[in-house]
Amino acid sequence: MTSAPEKIGIEPIPASGLQLGDGERAAIERVLASGMLAQGPEVAAFEAEFAEHVAGRPCVAVSSGTSALLLGLLALGIGPGDEVVVPSFSFAATANTVVLAGARPVFVDIEPRHFDLDPDAVRAAITERTAAIVAVHLYGHPAAMALLTEIADAHGLAIVEDAAQAHLARLAGRPVGTFGPVAAFSFYPTKNMTTGEGGMVVCADDATARRVRLLRNQGMEKRYANEVVGYNARMTDLQAAIGRVQLSRLPEWTNTRRRNAAFLTEALGAVAARSGLVLPSVAPAAEPVWHQYTVRAPRRDDVVARLSELGVPTGVYYPTPIHRLPAYDLDLDLPRTAEAARQVLSLPVHPNLSAAQLDHIIDAVERAVSS
Ligand SMILES: *Cc1c(COP(=O)(O)O)cnc(C)c1O
Repeated sequence: MTSAPEKIGIEPIPASGLQLGDGERAAIERVLASGMLAQGPEVAAFEAEFAEHVAGRPCVAVSSGTSALLLGLLALGIGPGDEVVVPSFSFAATANTVVLAGARPVFVDIEPRHFDLDPDAVRAAITERTAAIVAVHLYGHPAAMALLTEIADAHGLAIVEDAAQAHLARLAGRPVGTFGPVAAFSFYPTKNMTTGEGGMVVCADDATARRVRLLRNQGMEKRYANEVVGYNARMTDLQAAIGRVQLSRLPEWTNTRRRNAAFLTEALGAVAARSGLVLPSVAPAAEPVWHQYTVRAPRRDDVVARLSELGVPTGVYYPTPIHRLPAYDLDLDLPRTAEAARQVLSLPVHPNLSAAQLDHIIDAVERAVSS
């Protein structure tokens, strides 16, 4: 695949937006010099700095986005006998953590425009056992929080936000991560910012945050006075020090993602109109952060192969709905989920793209959908 970009005379288009530099290197040196590698002052500082992006809510840094979801669910008391409504069109961790908490995921369909939970499907899935709804802000686009909150309030349910892909996204001016009692962010290297591995639980109140802190550290606040049965889900100071540098650059990277997305949407309008390609749409009052720029394409796999030949890396998130994975293997009828899994492909939108590379992506998409 590396030969194609040479043919077209531009640098190979990177698949990833990862940027690591002198700031991260200096941060690691600082932690090494301190001699304190595990959870310490860098984690505390990272939590405080992250809180500035989520309306000052208490933040608890953990070992991964998966840990963040699991500890968030457990801190809300979700467990055996509970049902939790989740989208099937997401990364498996969205449902896995419900199972790991001892509860049952109830998979529902998505709305087709933004690939997020369909509020009507959520309403239809509620039983007397339902305890929570996991709203995934897929691809960095906020889910329909006004309607989902209305449903949750009417039935006394908790909303857990899976914001793994949506750092800094907003809806009606409000940051994602601040709509429910807990929210989970991920800092895996493919996300909009990274700590290598890592996650953050954002909590609505201090009591919830305290429960998450206990669960993160063997159930201990005071050493050897374990109050509950907990995990080791701590973040290290090495990770947090990297995260602080990444977080300081995230607003600028997010602006670049938004500029790139706006450019793609503008430049692909004509080809979309004549080819059946469906470009991403943005909900009213939503400010997505373009973790992915995801289009629908008829004959998706052909388009992916053609783009690869033309030196444009793409991703398919996700080719198999969670309920159809071998780990679940459920026979459910979720037609919009099935259709999305067949049609979606994500074009590069990350901040590591030059103007020439963006032009090449436009050109390649025009050729790929016309051939
Ligand atoms: C990445 C991701 C997770 C899990 O985060 P990790 O840090 O990889 O554990 C959960 N949900 C969604 C939607 C994700 O994209």
